[in-house]
Amino acid sequence: MNHVYESLPIFAQNLACTWAGYVRARDRFSRHFYRTLREWQASEMSPLENLLTYQRRRLDAMVAHARETVPRYRDLRPPSQNQDARRAIQETLASIPVLDKATYRDHFEEFLSTKIPVGQIRQSQTSGTTGTALPLAYTPAAIAEEYATVWRMRARCGIGLRDRHLTFGGQMIVPFSQSEPPFWRQNVYGSQTLFSVHHMTPRNLQLYVDEIFKQKATYIMSYPSSLHLVARAMLEEGRVLPEGRLKAIFTSSESLLAFQRESIEEAFSTRIWDRYGTSEFAVSMTACAEGLLHVDMEYCVVEVEVEEETNEYERGPLLVTGLSNDATPFLRYRIGDIGTRLKGACRCGRPGDVYLDVDGRNEDYVVTPDGRLIGRLDHIFKEQVEILEAQILQDSPESIEIVFVASDAFSQDSEKSLLREVRKRVGDQMHIDLKPVRSIPRERNGKFRAVKSRVGRLTT
Ligand SMILES: [Zn+2]
Repeated sequence: MNHVYESLPIFAQNLACTWAGYVRARDRFSRHFYRTLREWQASEMSPLENLLTYQRRRLDAMVAHARETVPRYRDLRPPSQNQDARRAIQETLASIPVLDKATYRDHFEEFLSTKIPVGQIRQSQTSGTTGTALPLAYTPAAIAEEYATVWRMRARCGIGLRDRHLTFGGQMIVPFSQSEPPFWRQNVYGSQTLFSVHHMTPRNLQLYVDEIFKQKATYIMSYPSSLHLVARAMLEEGRVLPEGRLKAIFTSSESLLAFQRESIEEAFSTRIWDRYGTSEFAVSMTACAEGLLHVDMEYCVVEVEVEEETNEYERGPLLVTGLSNDATPFLRYRIGDIGTRLKGACRCGRPGDVYLDVDGRNEDYVVTPDGRLIGRLDHIFKEQVEILEAQILQDSPESIEIVFVASDAFSQDSEKSLLREVRKRVGDQMHIDLKPVRSIPRERNGKFRAVKSRVGRLTT
């Protein structure tokens, strides 16, 4: 959030949110989006053979494109000629080296396609779950196709593009210093009310609940951790949303934990449909009625580096291959999350690869001195390209320590900008220590945790 937005009166902030909503919609809901959605809605329940043939064709095209236009992939072998689609996909992938985040970070220019017209390239960054900022380039087609996977799932729940909805996301849409309601803003164009996830004190949560009861929304989009706080407040007060008010709740960006699902579904009297996706445009999994995550096979290929295996499932780090983003093909990219793939077919009847869960997306909260629980602080590191990796440690509500690995480009300015971003989210009352280190230790299970808080761990 910039200073101009912060100083605007609320009605003007609503206008700004509406404008941003219009710009987002223009990008997402292109003609290519509608065409892809129709096509993929038709392929979703088609026989597995057809799905694999389609996936193979897309993979072959992506590999050919990478060989011709991506410097890093000039020497890739041509795709397998095997008659069998599944075998061909396996053989083609086996000939491609695994890509880890460090390699991409250190050489990202070499992963850019040289054949995409400049006007077609969009830039962004991702923080991922490790706190590492990575520059990203993508095409309008990639974003349209990603939204085709999102809307295919929503359409299954009977949701239309124009339906009124509520969102709880990481954007700073309400200035931190604001202490009186409303803690939400309106995107009139997109029929959306955006709730701040940065103002959820016990007192304010009552106001959130009042507003949710007032709103005539069809569905909610949220981080699981944010909506869980609201759900807990509702359940504590005994105020459960009547059945039939909402058609669905969609969660993403964090692992959906079992206790979160339980209280959210109870408080809102509707089902959660989870989705796993990342900013790299290289993977998408969408929930089915059985609560499992199906790979959107038209959009990506997902492999597991198996570390644990039983008759029913295999589990390990995920390697993802995106089939939609011509600007930066990610091939066999070790995304940093761990998945559990079911070996058999899903009972819901949708064919293709299906996962019991994907881990690595959940973190602790930071607790502020006035009792707010702040999640998804890895957003801070999105803009901080001079920081290679960062972790937030908290022992008491009065202070946090940010442990980070700096790149050579790290300067006093980077430090100032980092502090500014942290202050925006945690306010001025908190003591912040910055501690540069050479490396950040992993947990015993090998996972990295971006936030470790002794006071902000939810166990209920
Ligand atoms: Zn299923």
